[in-house]
Amino acid sequence: MYAGRFAPSPTGPLHFGSLVAALASWLDARAASGRWQVRIEDLDPPREQPRAAGQILRALESLGLEWDRPVAYQSRRRMLYRDALERLTGKTYACGCSRKEVADSALAMNAAGVYPGTCRNGLPAGKTSRALRVRTTAEPICFVDRVQGKIEQSVERDVGDFIVCRADGQFAYQLAVVVDDAEQGITDVVRGADLLDSTARQIYLQRLLGYPTPRYLHVPVAVNAVGEKLSKQAGARAIELTGAKDQLRTALAFLGQPEAANLREAVRSWDPGLIPARRMVTAPDAPE
Ligand code: GLU
Repeated sequence: MYAGRFAPSPTGPLHFGSLVAALASWLDARAASGRWQVRIEDLDPPREQPRAAGQILRALESLGLEWDRPVAYQSRRRMLYRDALERLTGKTYACGCSRKEVADSALAMNAAGVYPGTCRNGLPAGKTSRALRVRTTAEPICFVDRVQGKIEQSVERDVGDFIVCRADGQFAYQLAVVVDDAEQGITDVVRGADLLDSTARQIYLQRLLGYPTPRYLHVPVAVNAVGEKLSKQAGARAIELTGAKDQLRTALAFLGQPEAANLREAVRSWDPGLIPARRMVTAPDAPE
């Protein structure tokens, strides 16, 4: 049976960009007569806003995007991540590099953003353990995204050994999302294309942990006129509960779907083949 989810980080209220992801995921689940659940990804306290989770849930409710299981909170599921980390023993290692050291050495090697493997064979003298990284391999990871098509990435070459437990002791998003999707039996991940480049890392972890790989569908990310992802930082407006209908209409059009009088009609006419196969699309001016 189809199981989908919406997994917002509570960094601010729902805005047009996150509404697009929520709506696509909800419609895809309903069109498949599947179940749909919400998971609040609250593992990064410094970036979170205390009231955001409640605001997101109220906005979803008022839009009519109902969920079928109790809302899950990652902050209450740390035992699961700890267990998974234990199962990765032997495939992870302690890393003593600071963010700046990683950035500097990657730059020196002309590979910005790629971890150069400094601590791979043991902590260099004078360094103390900060984060845990998982050892990657060059073998390419391939998957077919339902909208973006065939994607291939060598995690070792393009990302390098990546962090599964951070220097501040928090479990990394990549680990938590993989554990939760498996533990919640998620069959279909529908989300924004800003996470397309994370997917190979997630599939890599799924294989190490013996989890099945869900189907993926990445919808374009809504950007503003200067190409910045809509987010609270980029000044995106929160979804106003009073203008919910207009917001849904605009989000449907953004997803390339025909007009629909209500959500039931939108479910009936849902066609992922009409979603633009692009990573970014400029958002129309969100209606007031
Ligand atoms: N929590 C992530 C975000 O809000 C999304 C995670 C996911 O859908 O896999 O960007």
